[in-house]
Amino acid sequence: MVQPIQRAAVIGSGVMGAAIAAHLAGAGIHCLLLDLVPAQLTEAEAKKGLTLEHPAVRNRLAVDAIARLKKTKPAPLYSEAFAARITPGNLEDDLSKLSSVDWIIEVVVERLDVKRELLGRIEKVWKPGTIVSSNTSGISINDMVASCGAEFKRHFLGTHFFNPPRYMKLLEIIPGETTDPEIVSYMHGFCERRLGKGVVVAKDTPNFIANRIGTYGLLVTLRNMLEVGYTVEEVDAVTGPALGRPKSATFRTLDLVGLDTFVHVAANVHGQTAATAEKDVFSAPDVLGSMVDRGWIGEKQGQGFYKKVKTDSGTQIQALRFDTMEYEPVRKVSSASLEAAKSVKGAGNKIKALLGTKDRYSELGWNTLKPVLLYAAHKLGEIADSIADIDNAMKWGFNWELGPFEVWDAIGLAAAAERMEAEGDVLPDWVRAWIDAGHTSFYEQRNDQRFYAHGGAWSELETPAEHISLQRLKQQNKVVLSNTGASLIDIGDGVACLEFHSPNNAIGADILTMIQQSVEEVRRNYRGLVIANEGRHFCVGANVMLLLMEAQEEEWDEIDLIIRQFQNTMLTLKRLEKPVVAAPHQMTLGGGVEACLPADKIIFSAETYFGLVETGVGLIPAGGGCKEMALRSSRMAGSTDADLQSFVNSYFETIAMAKVSTSGHDTKRLGYMGPQDSVIINQDRRVYEAKMAVLEMDRVGYEPQEEERIRVVGEPGKAVMQLGAYTMQLGNYISDHDRLIANKLAHVLAGGNVPANSLVSEQYMLDLEREAFLSLCGEPKTQARMQHMLAKGKPLRN
Ligand code: NAD
Repeated sequence: MVQPIQRAAVIGSGVMGAAIAAHLAGAGIHCLLLDLVPAQLTEAEAKKGLTLEHPAVRNRLAVDAIARLKKTKPAPLYSEAFAARITPGNLEDDLSKLSSVDWIIEVVVERLDVKRELLGRIEKVWKPGTIVSSNTSGISINDMVASCGAEFKRHFLGTHFFNPPRYMKLLEIIPGETTDPEIVSYMHGFCERRLGKGVVVAKDTPNFIANRIGTYGLLVTLRNMLEVGYTVEEVDAVTGPALGRPKSATFRTLDLVGLDTFVHVAANVHGQTAATAEKDVFSAPDVLGSMVDRGWIGEKQGQGFYKKVKTDSGTQIQALRFDTMEYEPVRKVSSASLEAAKSVKGAGNKIKALLGTKDRYSELGWNTLKPVLLYAAHKLGEIADSIADIDNAMKWGFNWELGPFEVWDAIGLAAAAERMEAEGDVLPDWVRAWIDAGHTSFYEQRNDQRFYAHGGAWSELETPAEHISLQRLKQQNKVVLSNTGASLIDIGDGVACLEFHSPNNAIGADILTMIQQSVEEVRRNYRGLVIANEGRHFCVGANVMLLLMEAQEEEWDEIDLIIRQFQNTMLTLKRLEKPVVAAPHQMTLGGGVEACLPADKIIFSAETYFGLVETGVGLIPAGGGCKEMALRSSRMAGSTDADLQSFVNSYFETIAMAKVSTSGHDTKRLGYMGPQDSVIINQDRRVYEAKMAVLEMDRVGYEPQEEERIRVVGEPGKAVMQLGAYTMQLGNYISDHDRLIANKLAHVLAGGNVPANSLVSEQYMLDLEREAFLSLCGEPKTQARMQHMLAKGKPLRN
């Protein structure tokens, strides 16, 4: 039996160690963070009269690392408060504490001698049963524990997180020769469910899967560039979205990673491979060495392949020219093949379009893609057991939209193979045999099952039952209702899921109609409703374009009607006699928030950026957002008068300042998370967990939400909020228009011109919201804000 992980210890508090500890803390796992004892006092420590024996000095590295976590961007912690779950310590005084944890993760410098020595020390205090892992990027797992005892080795494996651990989905698990398979399987499940990772099992070979192939890809690109003479920006124009890869493409990625690290990672394979051709590729070109010597290693030193230069007219981005080793302003790159890629949607189509239009950029595309496809195919069996593992590693670790074998399928397996052979390349035997057997792809979809080429036959790609995919359910004809903006999908066991799918998932009339129809359908035929989708963002708000057009045409009755419809729809959802669970993710703003608030429970994705941001477009929430916040204040205050004002004030500030949560957990700080709500880290399980929550509420006998009376702060409370806005304006923190909006918001949240502690109805609050919203729509500065948001995608401060 594997001992379940409740507490952990992270050793090494550098870039990765601290961030891994932060991610564990976010998942509710308390951990120790240990590092070396400093050999010298800092000036500040000496001034304070501290000695090297003082705990503050001895724990300095870990203490400073925890402090840094709170300042690092993007934030490694879901909530600053979680830093308290990390206890700092050092490797001399606290080593014995390792016997009180269930998982020890080694995250110290990438040196075999250092890691070996440390693991030897850990073994001395190790309590049998404790899992021990290393976060090495590429050192052999077996080598690290070569001189350790058998029991220790059975509990040892590689757990390779990608940087930054909170945001990168990939976790490579690398079993050693003697790692207990039960531990591998436990860690697989634990890291997926609890830490939300996409786990891929890799073999103990240099740099494992993603870094092996990713580094190879970057190096062959660089070689091709040097041979033919492309510029830095030309390479990036081709190797970004046109090849289904992130915008950071080749050189922005390298600048982010740091050239020193990259050279080190490449050298690791170079030193360990015997194959001449492969060794050749992994010997980094001279230009990289020369850049490292000059300290041009990327963003951490302010320059690498690119450099930002301040000029009179703002910041200018310059790119390095290898012939002169000088920086020049970045030149725009365009061509027929790049335009062709831009004009189509989906990574597969983009790559096909790029390669299908012949010019020097499609040549570059092919010459950077081909070696990677061949290399991945040649390495199958050596670095990983399945093509799916290789594809997933590249998608989750390098943010590629398609893995190498998926790309190969997209451009045509046989046609690409033919071209490779015509160019003198040798296909791996298994690929040749696969094609000769008449296969035309590496993956195949049969009804709802997906198969992949494995050992000369089709093998089924198994998806855990907890990974409900709306996309797949749609292919299986599970759509119950649908229009242009949304669909209702049967997700099994009597539960339906309302999916938004309009552009940016913005809420317009079509989505409102679908909500109304879904409510009817669920009322009659289902046990409950989930509101979730698989878009990039859950919902960016209401359709501002439509609103602006009506406002410019002065169609006030029309706007009044739209808002009534929005409000009535949300109220209908709230009054549904069946359980409703919303599961938002990523950006969930304005109307998107209002679509979640009527639910009985919200399951926030850990990555949810949630907020009522209407003031950014010169408005206030009018789809029930203000009403729901007044209702929450009233509930939270209960019968205590004093508290009611403080709760309302706090929501006033949150809405007026358009505050957005920095994570699912952070919604609590802003008052959006209620006691019934929860957070889920694993994205693949979001819909499943929401469905389970619906079924649970149904099972215990669901009681529909009833109309509630809301106790409001009334006129005196409104004055308090308005005074706050006035002070902010006097201090020049907000503009006249901000104050006008804040005054209207205060009026609504206070419940209008009624005496303090009046009890009002939900409908009364909705009417106040609507009136205020309508009056703001008539303001030229509000219209200017809407226009700016539509044109620039960010708020205008006017
Ligand atoms: P880092 O240099 O930021 O931190 C290394 C830590 O090791 C420091 O806290 C240092 O005090 C400690 N240390 C140094 N010598 C030690 C010794 N003799 N005994 C004990 N501790 C010692 O490095 P990092 O980027 O956090 O990398 C740590 C590990 O994670 C490495 O194995 C690296 O390959 C791996 N990794 C790094 C990344 C990345 O992007 N940085 C990604 C994945 C894996």
